[in-house]
Order: sequence, then structure tokens, then C-alpha cells
Amino acid sequence: MMNIRFWGTRGSIASPGKSTVKYGGNTSCVEVRAGNQILIFDAGTGIRDLGNELIKEFKSEPVTLHLFISHTHWDHIQGFPFFMPAYNKNFQIIIYGPPARDKSLKDLFKLQMDSEYFPVPLGGLNAQIIMQEVREPFRIGDLMVTSFYMNHPSMTLAYKIFDGKKTFVYATDNEPYRYTLHAARKDQLGSQYGAELDQKFIEFISGADFIVCEAQYTLEEYRSKIGWGHSPIESIVEFAIKANVKQLALYHHDPSHDDATIDAIVKHAQKLLSTQKSSVQCFGAAEGMVVKLA
Ligand SMILES: [Zn+2]
Ligand SMILES: [Zn+2]
Repeated sequence: MMNIRFWGTRGSIASPGKSTVKYGGNTSCVEVRAGNQILIFDAGTGIRDLGNELIKEFKSEPVTLHLFISHTHWDHIQGFPFFMPAYNKNFQIIIYGPPARDKSLKDLFKLQMDSEYFPVPLGGLNAQIIMQEVREPFRIGDLMVTSFYMNHPSMTLAYKIFDGKKTFVYATDNEPYRYTLHAARKDQLGSQYGAELDQKFIEFISGADFIVCEAQYTLEEYRSKIGWGHSPIESIVEFAIKANVKQLALYHHDPSHDDATIDAIVKHAQKLLSTQKSSVQCFGAAEGMVVKLA
């Protein structure tokens, strides 16, 4: 049994206000309770409220949190300095993520808490913080964790959690290779090689019971944003169908998309799925939403 809760569903930058009440304005953060493990995916601004709830729930009990970072763009780490469990000695926080080409995961975290950016340094936090650069598949108790490098302008990982029965995938900030490589090479070979790489992503998410997947752009918007590391909704739908996933949560909403626009994007995705007689269940991830995988 896995319990999934969305604390932040927005991509790029927090976008609070009247027009984003339904889907929420906080950036990327998803909590997964699997058995007695607490997993958190990304530390966007949504992690602040999650942290406050965890403090209330566990009071002075010792707790271990497993925090998976997809990559260290602002919208995925900016909430971390405001995550109260990090200031509390009862918490052990294991941070998993990819290293950069020339920096360790720890250095990436240290940088955003440098005194020019934030008053408290990473070393000044009271929780026990353990940095774990992800390379191989590994276990957390009964859970199997595997990862996959996606196409984004920073080392970016998707994570797959298998509890012995159900599979959860967190895959945000990913652009189809076939468009990026086609644009870079301007020939068919680019599209062909790109499609082969996209197939590896489809294999990684294949058969997932639940996938949280970015859906940042409409096809129209995507055309002027090739190489920015995000997907048009059509590609997400295509990948989900090919991978035969069961449930697809559209996530990492563009900050310029108000609730009505996201409603229309979700409807469009559902229509694409039904036209192709797909059984994939698709909905828009909204802050506060809870999904149970049993
Ligand atoms: Zn992002
Ligand atoms: Zn990013």
C-alpha cells in the first residue's frame, strides 16, 4: 500500500494567487508513505507545509525521511531551507540525488545556503543529514528504488519505487530526445536516434501503476521552447500509452497556466487517450490531493 500526497505541483516558479487555487501555486513536492517508510520527492516550496505537518505528527519521536531530488533547479530545492525537520535533531534526512558534472550533491545543496543567498548554512542544521548520490538500484527496507537519467539541461533523475506489488514513478523535467536531437542536428538521424533514447524512458516507466509526470507545455507552446527540457502534453500521453501505465498524474504545471488552462490541458490529454482507446487514467495533479495505491 502506498499513499501519495501532492504538496506542490507547480513547475519553474511558485505562482500563488486567485487563478491557481485549484491546482496550487507551490513548486514540486510529493510525499509517499509506503509501509512505515516516508519518501519525499523534490524539495520545491511545497515541502515547507509538509515539514510543518511532519513536526506536528512526530513531535519528539525520532524519524527518518528519504528525500529524493530529481535535480537541483530552483523549483526542486528552494523549499529545503524552509523545511523545519532539517532544523530538528529528532530527524534523520537522507537526501538522494544526482551529482552535477563538476560538483557533488552536497556542494549543490551547500551553494543555495551560502550566506549570499540564505542566512543559515547547510552545516548549521540540527537534523542528521546524509547525502547519497544515486548510481545503482538500492533498497529501503522492502522497497526497491531504481532511477533513470532524463533529457533536461541539468543531471536529472526519474525514480521508480516498487513495494513488491505496486510501482510508483516520479518523472518530471524531461524532454523527448527526438525533438531535441532533431533540432540540434536538423536531420532524420537526430529524430531516429532520439526516438531510440525515448524508448529507454518508455521501458523505464513500463507497466507503472502510478506515474507523476511533467506536462508543462501545450504543443503550441513547446514549438518555441525546444531544448528547455520539458514536454508537450502529446508526448506524455504517447509515452504513457506505449508504457501501458495505469494512472498518470499531470504535474509540474507551467506558472503561466491558470486553473482553467490546466483543466483544458487535462481534458485534451483525456481526449487523446480515449481517441486511442487507451485504458490509462489521467488527471491533473493538484496541491493537497491524495492518491492511494492498494
Ligand atoms: Zn522543474
Ligand atoms: Zn528543471
